[in-house]
Formats: sequence, structure tokens, C-alpha cells
Amino acid sequence: MTLHCFPEPIEAAIAQWRAESPEPICAYIYDLQALERHVRWMREALPDGCELYYAAKANPEAPLLRTLAPWVHGFEAASGGELRWLHERQSGHPLLFGGPGKLDSELALAASLPACTLHVESLGELARLAAIADLSDKQVPVFLRMNIAVPGISDTRLMMGGKPTPFGMDEGDLPQAVAMLRRHPRLRLEGFHFHLMSHQKDARMQLDLVRAYLDVVHRWNATYGLDVGMVNAGGGFGVDYAEPASSFDWLQFCQGLRGVLREHARGLRLRFEPGRYVSVTCGWYVMEVIDVKRSHGEYFAVARGGTHHFRTPPAQGHDHPFRILRGAHPPAIENERVTLVGQLCTPKDVLARAQPVQALAPGDCLLFPLAGAYAWNISHQNFLMHPAPRMVFLEANARAASPAWPSVVA
Ligand SMILES: *Cc1c(COP(=O)(O)O)cnc(C)c1O
Repeated sequence: MTLHCFPEPIEAAIAQWRAESPEPICAYIYDLQALERHVRWMREALPDGCELYYAAKANPEAPLLRTLAPWVHGFEAASGGELRWLHERQSGHPLLFGGPGKLDSELALAASLPACTLHVESLGELARLAAIADLSDKQVPVFLRMNIAVPGISDTRLMMGGKPTPFGMDEGDLPQAVAMLRRHPRLRLEGFHFHLMSHQKDARMQLDLVRAYLDVVHRWNATYGLDVGMVNAGGGFGVDYAEPASSFDWLQFCQGLRGVLREHARGLRLRFEPGRYVSVTCGWYVMEVIDVKRSHGEYFAVARGGTHHFRTPPAQGHDHPFRILRGAHPPAIENERVTLVGQLCTPKDVLARAQPVQALAPGDCLLFPLAGAYAWNISHQNFLMHPAPRMVFLEANARAASPAWPSVVA
């Protein structure tokens, strides 16, 4: 399995904690310099005129937002809670507000913010927003989120569009939506939004989708007499946890995008709002092994923490990749397969099953990479009342170079 090398500052932090306290280690460590390098790399590859937003749902920790802020055009909020959080921390940046089930109070908040664009998910939501906008003293920028079938692509497993979902509107809703927009001049239709695919690892297929979005928006502009100028093509760029170098090829995508824009943009501009692909590589979850035991012929390593901190392995249904940082003890097992579990009293608390290890003992640390997105914030943290992990943010200037799947992809 190809993985990052150890980022040495993470080893250094662990060594320091070991010297400070005998308590077994359990921590999230975020490498903000790696994050900055990655987002700069993404931004620099993106063709001119395309915008990059960060979907805060992937990881809304304030130091990450602060690190990303200079390199992104803005942030996407998928709930009223995220909208408030982003507004408090990144009030100077444009915000996007999407997601189903928005409350009237949240629509009103979004409509009142100086630079917030609303992604409207249904005709009902558009009607509620229109009533709010009628009372507003300013224009409210709106994108309609559309759920369309894209020929040749709609049947793939990861496709969320072109079939029944709670997200976005059907194309058949458009005449009514356009009529409603005309009756409520405070609403300003600025774009269409598409987020039809998640875990997309195929850059060429993503280019086909973008091409289809641009073409359909031109068709809608012509059919309904609109002058929409912007297409939000969503996020969903995929990460291969087992083989990070096989993740979505951002450079190939950006390269292809130039051709797509040349032939299909005809004045339309593109915006992206990825989450996972931006922040996943910056985070590490670290657990210290408490016990190594044998049960009915199989080995288990029980480590401090578990899936109540790091739900990513069960959420993805995978064995999470890991590295071992050996401690001072002689090996309890050598050249065996071992299942890595946490402290929860449920057999579901498994981070990786039957993994080959050269040597392992209590006191060793398990380092799980690719824990910077959909990790801590998707975990059921209060289950069993274990304490939270230590949260550590390694500042950008505190260290030298680090691993990097981005440059591997490059
Ligand atoms: C979750 C979400 C994103 C981000 O998805 P990633 O897979 O993290 O890139 C972007 N847009 C919308 C509408 C989403 O729901």
C-alpha cells in the first residue's frame, strides 16, 4: 500500500506528549501547511475565470477555514448552523447556502447577509424565500439546484442525479420556478447548481458532466429567456483511501477543463465547491495501543479512542490505511494479522480488519492518515462518554516540508 511518509512534525508532537504524560495518546493532528500547499496547488491549476469554494461540511474547524481563506473564493454552508459559523468566522468572504430543509429563519438570515447566495432546492423553498425577499430592501442572489439525468452517466452507482432524491428540482419544475422568479423581482437568478456525483475518481467523466451542465444551461437560458451567467458544478471529487495516488486527478481535470470552456462556456462561468478533496490529506487521527490480545485465534489491538472519534472507516465501509509508530516496548506480536479496534463496547468499533503488521505492542501509536474530512465531525462523539481526542493544529510556518499525495498525483 502506497501511503504518505510520516510527516515528521506529527512524530515530533507524539514524542513530546509521550515525554509529558504517561496517559495513552488520542488525538487529531491537522497539518495546516500541508492544507495550504494542497489548496494552492488546486487553485493554481484551475483555469482563469473558474471559482473554488470550500464545502465546510467536510471539516469546518476554524483553523482550517482560516488557512483556506486566502486561497478560496468563499465557503459553502450546507445548513443554517454552518452558515452562522462561517459568517462569524469568515464574514469577509462570499458564502453559499445550500441543503434541503432550510427554515424560514435561516432563509431570512441568508437573504440578509451581504454576500450570500442561496441554492434553492425546491419550488416550495423558492416560494418561502420569495415571501421573505419581498420584504427585503435588497436583491437576493439565487441559484436553482437542478437534478437532471445526464445521458450515459446517470446509471453509475455514485450518481445522485437523474433519479429520485430530496436534492434539487426536476427540469419539469423550471417553468413554474421561472414564473415565480418573474413575480418576485427581489430574487435575482444568477446561476444553476449541480452536485450530481460524489466520490468521483474519473476526471474524464467529470469533464463530461461539466460539458453537459454548460450545454443545458445555455438551452435553459434560450428557452426561458434567462441571462444566467454562472454554473456551480458542485464538489464530489473522489479520494482513494487505499491508494491515494489513484484519487481524482485534479491536474488532468483542470487541463481538460480548458478545452471544455473553450468550446462550451460561451460566456458562462464555472464554480466548484469541493470539501473532501480539499481537506482530507491535512488530518491525522492518532491512537495509542492499550492492549494486544488474542481471541479465538485472531489478534486484536485495542487502542485509545475509536469510531466515536473517527467514524470514517465504518462510514466508508473500508479498512482505513494506517502506519505504526513503534513505542518502547518489545513486540507483543510479530508478522501477524491484527484487527484494530477502539474502546467502544460494540463489535462495530473497528478501524481496520485483519491487517498484516511486522511488530506491534501496547504503547505503539496507530497513525491514520486522510482524516481531515468527514472524520471527527461525522462521529457520534458522546456515545459511551469517553473524553474527546486532543485537537492539534500545526501552524503553517512551524515546520519544513511534508508528505504529499498532491505532488504524487502531479
Ligand atoms: C457535500 C456537498 C459538497 C461537498 O462534497 P465533497 O464530496 O466533500 O466534495 C458540495 N456541494 C454540495 C451541495 C454538497 O452537498
